[in-house]
Amino acid sequence: GDSYDEECDYLFKAVLVGDSAVGKSNLLSRFAKNEFRLDSKPTIGVEFAYRNIKVGDKMIKAQVWDTAGQERFRAITSSYYRGALGALLVYDITRQATFESLKKWLHELREFGSSDMVIVLVGNKVDLEIAREVEKEDGKSLAELEGLCFMETSALENLNVEEAFLQMITKIHEITS
Ligand code: GDP
Ligand code: MG
Repeated sequence: GDSYDEECDYLFKAVLVGDSAVGKSNLLSRFAKNEFRLDSKPTIGVEFAYRNIKVGDKMIKAQVWDTAGQERFRAITSSYYRGALGALLVYDITRQATFESLKKWLHELREFGSSDMVIVLVGNKVDLEIAREVEKEDGKSLAELEGLCFMETSALENLNVEEAFLQMITKIHEITS
């Protein structure tokens, strides 16, 4: 391997889940490459991205899987979840329907994911405050009820994106070390 691999202490797999067009791919491209796309292509054409992150004195390589648009057809397979220690469960604060879908996604995460998977609930697109349909309190309450971390983000404005991923990675590190 390259020197990055040799310097890496842990490799974690994490997955992105949530309805189509909530901003999963843009959250990942922000996190991995600090890029954002304004066009609404259903996929950025990659299945996963890596980023190395230092937590304490350990170097963690986060491998984050993105759906290549299959969520539109509810065709995410169990292999997508296999071995994942963390998940960002994403909804769009301007579309109530994406919040209503969370129960279905949680069910899937719990069916196919590991039992101690770290799940961060992410309400994305807070830059569109004027079009908000899901109150922050509602996201917070659901997270408390289901034992999830919670964060509101904007992939567009690069707000809390790093924090959401870091929260997940730090928690995974706590659990596994
Ligand atoms: P995915 O289907 O969940 O992967 O969603 P995408 O990342 O492809 O984003 C869907 C659409 O929402 C695209 O047009 C993005 O430009 C837009 N989008 C993603 N994140 C944000 C955000 O934080 N704010 C705004 N205003 N638009 C966003
Ligand atoms: Mg996508």
